Amino acid sequence: MATFSDLRQKLVQALWEDRIIKTRAVRDAMLAVPREEFIPERLRSSAYDDSPLPSLESQTISAPHMVAIMCEVLELKPGMAVLEVGAGTGYHAAVCSEMVAPKGAVAAGHVYAVERVPSLAEFARGNISRCGYSGSVTVIEGDGTMGYPPAAPYDRILVTAAAPAVPPPLKMQLKDGGVLAIPVGEVYSVQTLLRLRRSGDSFTEHACGGCVFVPLRGQYGWNT
Ligand code: SAH
Repeated sequence: MATFSDLRQKLVQALWEDRIIKTRAVRDAMLAVPREEFIPERLRSSAYDDSPLPSLESQTISAPHMVAIMCEVLELKPGMAVLEVGAGTGYHAAVCSEMVAPKGAVAAGHVYAVERVPSLAEFARGNISRCGYSGSVTVIEGDGTMGYPPAAPYDRILVTAAAPAVPPPLKMQLKDGGVLAIPVGEVYSVQTLLRLRRSGDSFTEHACGGCVFVPLRGQYGWNT
């Protein structure tokens, strides 16, 4: 019978052949993180299907290809400070931490992952700790549309829920030269994954394709 490790390698290989994973850094990070440890136990046999899965409280863990696409867009490097809005299960934060704080790196970066739903923040914290990422990922419970000022500014920001527009606090908490990846668009529809790069006080915007995420709530999210 195929082990989780076999299934993980097979999925990552398929994403590599489809050119969704483009760099070794993303490939190695996705090979390192056990996705099965971040999903509810009854769904573990589906851990390496390339699809989103339910997590808790009607939320989801993103499909592996979407995690890969966002990581490629972000060009994560060792030593970077990263903010994730929408920690969910903690899986994507763990993948990012493999890139910014690889084991043995001289410059160890850090991922700050904000989650609005208390039970999910708790779930993410447990998964992160069990899988050995507590030193490089901090899960914060709160409204991530306000960013997380105590650790700002960030080299990279990713939002893993669909926003009506880019929340202004996130733009303000991005370093000069920093990159922000965020799905923008209508709720329960196809959204556009946007990449914003900051240069001084201006931002260049690039559309990176369609995507489907659960809605971003909170001050600068949807209140439907
Ligand atoms: N990145 C996650 C999946 C994200 S699903 C993973 O790897 O598992 C989107 C998550 O965003 C949900 O858990 C939802 O509760 C959260 N969310 C929605 N609005 C938010 C907000 N304003 N601040 C923080 N988290 C938010």
